[in-house]
Amino acid sequence: MNDSFDRLRREVVACVRCPRLVRYRERVAVEKKREFRAETYWGRGVPGFGDPSARLVAVGLAPAAHGSNRTGRVFTGDRSAAFLVRGFHAAGLANQPTSTHGGDGLRYTDLYLTAAVRCAPPDNRPSPSERSNCMPYLDRELRLLTNARAILALGGFAWDALRDAVPTVYGVERPSTPFAHGACAPLGPGRPLLWASYHPSPQNTNTGKLTHAMFVGLLERIRASYSESSSS
Ligand code: SF4
Repeated sequence: MNDSFDRLRREVVACVRCPRLVRYRERVAVEKKREFRAETYWGRGVPGFGDPSARLVAVGLAPAAHGSNRTGRVFTGDRSAAFLVRGFHAAGLANQPTSTHGGDGLRYTDLYLTAAVRCAPPDNRPSPSERSNCMPYLDRELRLLTNARAILALGGFAWDALRDAVPTVYGVERPSTPFAHGACAPLGPGRPLLWASYHPSPQNTNTGKLTHAMFVGLLERIRASYSESSSS
């Protein structure tokens, strides 16, 4: 297949493979949250966003009902996005520290963002079959991201999805490394490193389980890993 980011984007936006998620994303888009009632919700699958030549790829769980299911851009318009993009900006990967809506001028440099599941799930919990339905999009996206040197899982769900994608995408054994903040799994010569961070959800960031300093520190470690290997 002659794949491309454009083709992938079109397919994700039109996808109706998961009936439960399609019903949920569309219902949320009609009912809306009170503070966003004047807005038109996206209510469809949310494609990846960022620099297609990126060396760092970050992978989240799934769109938030009133975050990217509303705005149509991954990690945009909710508190997880606010935490994450402030961190990316501090690490020099984003041109601004906020991600509020599609036309806000946000640009990533050397960074691409996506998610393991592309439609908002009830309670942020996709079922195993919904995850399986969406995995081919992640596989294809990783294959298109040919410059990737590091892939950062944002949370345990994305970590497991990425480990499952490894044999198909990179042709090597699934890493056995358990999820932990700062965990790193090498995939062998010429392949990216897998890294893990706690998810930037308010449950973690409001309790201090994941702080801004921890997140930026991890981004700096990750960037150093491929900057060192590029210069050696
Ligand atoms: S979650 Fe993925 S596979 Fe399921 S409907 Fe959305 S885009 Fe399609």
